[in-house]
Amino acid sequence: MRILHWFRKDLRLDDNTALSEAVRDADGDVVPFYSSEPAVLGRPDMAPARVQFVLDALASLGADIRTMGSSLALTHGDATVTVLAAARASGADAVYWNDEYEPPLRQRDDDVERALRAAGIGVKRFHDRLIVPPGAVATQSGSPYTVYTPFRRACEALAVSRALSRVTRLAAHRLPSPPLATLTQLGFATPAAARWPAGEAAAHDRLARFLAASAEGAGLAHYASHRDVPSAPAVSQLSADLRFGTIGIRRVVQETLASAQPGEAIAKFVSELRWRDFYTQVLWHFPHVEHGCFRPEYDALQWPGSDAHFTAWSQGRTGYPIVDAAMREMLATGFMHNRTRMVVASFLTKDLLIDWRRGELWFMQHLIDGDMANNNGGWQWAAGTGTDAAPYFRIFNPTSQGERFDQGGAYVKRWLPELAAVPAKFVHRPWEAPPLLLAEVGVTLGETYPFPIVDHAVQRERALAMYGVLKKDPHE
Ligand SMILES: Cc1cc2nc3c(=O)[nH]c(=O)nc-3n(C[C@H](O)[C@H](O)[C@H](O)COP(=O)(O)OP(=O)(O)OC[C@H]3O[C@@H](n4cnc5c(N)ncnc54)[C@H](O)[C@@H]3O)c2cc1C
Repeated sequence: MRILHWFRKDLRLDDNTALSEAVRDADGDVVPFYSSEPAVLGRPDMAPARVQFVLDALASLGADIRTMGSSLALTHGDATVTVLAAARASGADAVYWNDEYEPPLRQRDDDVERALRAAGIGVKRFHDRLIVPPGAVATQSGSPYTVYTPFRRACEALAVSRALSRVTRLAAHRLPSPPLATLTQLGFATPAAARWPAGEAAAHDRLARFLAASAEGAGLAHYASHRDVPSAPAVSQLSADLRFGTIGIRRVVQETLASAQPGEAIAKFVSELRWRDFYTQVLWHFPHVEHGCFRPEYDALQWPGSDAHFTAWSQGRTGYPIVDAAMREMLATGFMHNRTRMVVASFLTKDLLIDWRRGELWFMQHLIDGDMANNNGGWQWAAGTGTDAAPYFRIFNPTSQGERFDQGGAYVKRWLPELAAVPAKFVHRPWEAPPLLLAEVGVTLGETYPFPIVDHAVQRERALAMYGVLKKDPHE
């Protein structure tokens, strides 16, 4: 038996369910294959940084496969055509892959499966991406969980599978395939700082550094206490690796549980990993969230925010330093810390009164880890329109968020060099600094750094009135 393994968001040889099963079922006679797709690359929410990450991860995967004497076949085209063509060209009896859960990709996979079966080629699909696959847990009444904590508890009652071992043998194959360079000519430009080391080895290094770091405020040891501090290196930055599968989720959980770090930190980190599972199962059970509010009554909200304010927010020019620092971090690196993602999302929706979907799209167009389920879940949480949402009357004050989580302003000063010399007391509220002091540190408000584009106190009242129009929340 010969099997074609279709790599997608599982760009690795270690802990890869479909690939391991294929190698076992075909006794190593497995053809590794990847197809980039115009329909995916042409999506309006595509980010150059993510495309680059995938190209680099493919280069690394291809090199690893070559060491086994095989070769990763690459192609570009509609998957319903390319997968069937590759299966035929390689003489495969079956195609194996790990499932994806976003509505358009589920549809694509069903179409590919139909085309393969019609041609007499077998198909096996596997759950691989999550600790607990969608549909594996349900409430007592049999419905999907829409609140995180009971979902997590139900998942915790299930055993976490052990990581699968690394595939080490693949029979020699050489399907006709363009070089990777052809795929790199797709016309995406990535800022240098947004080019992350990608591939299995890079992902394992990131995990190892996170688990081992013991410097003050760094790594898993300090995760529970410092994970909300955007200047602290206390988070894993594994989100792009998990997004593209350059590391397996079972491997991450297993190595975390086996680490010598405090139990509280380990529990907190695994609990954060489960948010991925949660939002993915929300998207799986409630596909309408891809375009609309989880709570449809919120689709009636009228968002009066202006295009000029959206531009100021997107470029990090709102006059609220924590918001601007975060937005500029994302533009420069393709990454943003979780705490500041919450702050800027709250600011866009509750201070600038702009539809969360515009922010969701901007994030997808820039984040290296941009992921439909997690991004949508995060935005709907912040906008108060989602599952498990913060009630709409809980509105982040951007100044106090900055002062609480960026005491001293190290994060702001890193991303807003124009405020680098402002004393800590005023770094999150430069508009309150005495003019003489601002002149001494080279800041001219309205010139070198903006005045706040809105008054938070005023906007807060406007947001409450806007949401209040919907009156009683039927879910409360
Ligand atoms: C408005 C908004 C948009 C977001 N968009 C995305 C997105 O597009 N892609 C994405 O992966 N995450 C998104 N998140 C979730 C979270 O901010 C990132 O996963 C996290 O900041 C990535 O950094 P890390 O790997 O260092 O996280 P860690 O704190 O080290 O967490 C480890 C992993 O757990 C998962 N995780 C942690 N928190 C969350 C969460 N709240 N929701 C879902 N998964 C989580 C991620 O896979 C993350 O890599 C968003 C959050 C908000 C508030």
